[in-house]
Amino acid sequence: MKKSLSFVAFLSVITAAVPLRAEAPPRPKLILSILVDQFRYDYAERLHDQLGADGLKMLTDRGTFMTFARYNYFPTITGPGHASFFSGTTPASHGIIANDWFDKRTGKMTYCVSDPNVTGVGTDSAAGKMSPRNFIGGNFSDMMRLHYQSKVIGISMKDRGAILPAGKKPTGAYWWEAATGNYITSSYYRAELPDWVKQFNERHRAKDFIGQTWDRLLEASKYPWPDNAPGEGALSGEKTVTFPHTVSAGKDGFENIMPTPYGNQLLLEFAEAALDGEALGQGPEPDVLSVSFSSIDYCGHRFGPYSQEAQDIVLRFDRQLAELFHYVDKKIGLANVAIVFTADHGVMPTPEFAAEQGLGGQRSDTVALIGELLQQLEAHFGPGRYLQTPRIIEGNIYLNHNELTEKKLNVKEVADFVREWALGTGKFQAAYSREQLLDGRAPGPMGERVLNGYNAERSGDIVLVQKPYVISWGATGTTHGSPYSYDTHIPVFFYGPSFKPGRYPDEFYITDIVPTLCAAMHIDEPAGSIGKPFVKILVDP
Ligand SMILES: [Zn+2]
Repeated sequence: MKKSLSFVAFLSVITAAVPLRAEAPPRPKLILSILVDQFRYDYAERLHDQLGADGLKMLTDRGTFMTFARYNYFPTITGPGHASFFSGTTPASHGIIANDWFDKRTGKMTYCVSDPNVTGVGTDSAAGKMSPRNFIGGNFSDMMRLHYQSKVIGISMKDRGAILPAGKKPTGAYWWEAATGNYITSSYYRAELPDWVKQFNERHRAKDFIGQTWDRLLEASKYPWPDNAPGEGALSGEKTVTFPHTVSAGKDGFENIMPTPYGNQLLLEFAEAALDGEALGQGPEPDVLSVSFSSIDYCGHRFGPYSQEAQDIVLRFDRQLAELFHYVDKKIGLANVAIVFTADHGVMPTPEFAAEQGLGGQRSDTVALIGELLQQLEAHFGPGRYLQTPRIIEGNIYLNHNELTEKKLNVKEVADFVREWALGTGKFQAAYSREQLLDGRAPGPMGERVLNGYNAERSGDIVLVQKPYVISWGATGTTHGSPYSYDTHIPVFFYGPSFKPGRYPDEFYITDIVPTLCAAMHIDEPAGSIGKPFVKILVDP
């Protein structure tokens, strides 16, 4: 008794002598995650002086701006991007290796969030048969739920944009069905749409945007590149690639809203409805709202990142973001919110634009290339069905192992043959075999990106990486997916009392976002998290 009393006395001396942590900021009531589909780092810099005061500038000028943040895997596309940025890991671990990949066991293509075992809620169509079933492990949203019993809501125009950041058991995940113009979910999440989603759908807001004219926000002289730059594609229902554009009624519904600023407007309004409908940030513990804006991606694919349309949709998005920030401020107070903002990937200029700038842009015809490969394989190894599928899927080639066994051909010999063929076509920068990747023999920054994107269960037998400024895409427009800076360099912003503002050109990878957020929130990391917390910016590490 005496002993323990003196121990207590000793403790109280210690407590008196050691001051409490200096001024820990109050814990945020809401984590607002904003992911922009296809948002290049340079948009935040090139267009900075044309931004309004309270949108993106709040992040660039008053937030924490990681100016050298990069994706550290290949391929840089939407499904993998949404799965990675909020899980702190890469396709090697979470298994979302592409938007669509080839399932070696069934011999069929699989969509990253498709789930044949669930049904649509708010729709009878296949658009509702979605869930995070293919995502292996958990993410930041899941850890927030486990630690704080947070409400988690994920929303987007794209199903994968809503589903993947929301984690495994969110309060809800809602995506947009272009055919009806409604937000929907699936039986994975709940049996019925909540009232606030039903009420939002009943407004039929999508209808208001059909027939709208989209013209430049600023005077034409503020747009440095020509409006009819080489390689641009026309919007559906239009013959020219220049302003003004008109949103026409689509063949199947409201899909023509997507590549215009109206797609972001529709999601912005839905985000406000979610904040109210779920009373996010109003409870005793912090909630999570993940909003993934899709329209800049559709626009960028059509016109390219230097187009007047890309510039304009970003400037309009900046104003929409200001509206969202004002709304959050009114409802919760920005001082009570932690914002994280990033993109799922960048985008390449159109090959024609790149070529005109002397950068060597090319369109590569993958169908013709595979035809040539099949011919070469037969010429070398005799007639046979050497590939499980005659396609290159995000760089992956799948060999037909049964055929190789039957012909007593060794996998390495055939893979080496494919590699030499690929490198001889003039289209590819690098080729990696499955054996090499499983052994971890892929040196250099390119090798590391391919390894991080390679999932042992789901990826192919050979992974090919195209040369810079080479894409396999339609006759016009452009795409992303490469391990090059135009696709990997994205802005990352943190904002709120938990973070020290400033510009940080430090080495920073997409997988560092979640460790940094977890350190700020004092919670455990998701299972597969491989990044590092960026301690320098934390007010209360
Ligand atoms: Zn895209």
